[in-house]
Amino acid sequence: HQALDREHSPSPADMLADSDLEGGCPVQLVVADEDEHSFSLQEEALERLLLREPVQDMSVVVVSVAGAFRKGKSFLLDFMLRYMYSQKQGGGSWLGGADEPLTGFTWRGGCERETTGILAWSEVFVVDKPDGSQVAVLLMDTQGAFDSQSTIKDCEEVTVTSRLWFVFQVYNLSQNVQEDDLQHLQLFTEYGRLAMEEVYEKPFQSLMFLIRDWSYPYEHPYGLEGGRGFLEKRLQVKQNQHEELQNVRKHIHSCFSNISCFLLPHPGLRVATNPHFDGRLRDIDEDFQARLVELVPLLLSPENLVVKEIGGQKVTCRDLLHYFKAYMKIYQG
Ligand code: GDP
Ligand code: MG
Repeated sequence: HQALDREHSPSPADMLADSDLEGGCPVQLVVADEDEHSFSLQEEALERLLLREPVQDMSVVVVSVAGAFRKGKSFLLDFMLRYMYSQKQGGGSWLGGADEPLTGFTWRGGCERETTGILAWSEVFVVDKPDGSQVAVLLMDTQGAFDSQSTIKDCEEVTVTSRLWFVFQVYNLSQNVQEDDLQHLQLFTEYGRLAMEEVYEKPFQSLMFLIRDWSYPYEHPYGLEGGRGFLEKRLQVKQNQHEELQNVRKHIHSCFSNISCFLLPHPGLRVATNPHFDGRLRDIDEDFQARLVELVPLLLSPENLVVKEIGGQKVTCRDLLHYFKAYMKIYQG
C-alpha cells in the first residue's frame, strides 16, 4: 500500500503517527475552506484509517449524528466513545465516573464555531456480533458548515452535506420535530439521492430522530416507546393535510427502511449554561443519564449495530474509502 507509506511528503495524514492512532484522537477527514467554498478530502488520513489490518476487509458500521450546530451532537458521540471503549474491555458499566471530564471529539458551550469539516475517531473498533461475524465501527463527527442548517441557503454546501448524508443514522433535533426539520431532511435526501444515483442506488437505511430537551413526557414518555408514538403522529399522512406536508412525509418514509425516534430529557442547567461544565456526570441530571444508558446501546450494542449497505450490498472499510472518494469527486467535478 503505497498510500500508507510514511515516507511521503508532509501532509496532515503523515503527521498522524501510529502512536496517535493507538491512543484515540479525532482525525480530520474532510477539510472545508469556508472562504473558498471548497472542500477537500484528506485521502491519506482516510486511507490510514480504513486500510489498516484487520479492519480493511470487514463490513463497516458508520456512526454519525446529523443536525444543527450546538445541539449536543459531539457531547453524545463522546458518550458513545465511552461505550465502545468499555465494550472493548469486556462491557459492564460504561457511563463514567461522577467527576470524570468527558473527552473525545471536541464539544463545548458558547457559540463560536470550530473548524469546519468532518472528523473520524482514529480508532476503528472491531466488534464481534452475536452471529459470529466481526464488524468495524467508525465514529464520525461533523463541524461547522456541515452541521449548520443555515447552509441550506447555499446550494453548493447543501450538495456536499447531502452527499454525505449516507453516513448519518441519527438526526439530532432540539425540543421537537418542526416542519422545517422535515423539509431539510427531504432536501438532503433528495439532493443526496440525485447525487448518489449517479453512483449507486439506495444509500439510506435506518434513521433515528433524536429529540433533545423533550419537555412533554406526560404526552409522550421519554425513550424509544414514547418516541415511537410521537413520531408516528408527526409523520402521519392525513387526507386533510396540505399536499406539500403529505409529500414530505411520503418522501421520508420512502427513503428509509427503518425510522425510529428517541425522546431525551433536558440534561440540566449546568450542562446547558455553565461555561465551566466539563462533561462530568455529577453535573448531569440523573434522568438524562438513565436515558443515555438506554439510548447508546440501541445504536451500538453488538446485536444492534447495522452494517452499512449501499444498493443492497454490505460495505467494507475499503469500499467506504472508495465511496468517499467517488462522492467527493462528483462534488468537485
Ligand atoms: P454540537 O455542536 O451539536 O456538536 O454540540 P456540542 O456537543 O458541542 O454541545 C453544545 C453545548 O450543548 C454544550 O455546552 C453542551 O454542554 C450542551 N448540551 C449537550 N447535550 C445537551 C442537551 O441534550 N440539551 C441541551 N440543552 N444542551 C446540551
Ligand atoms: Mg460538535
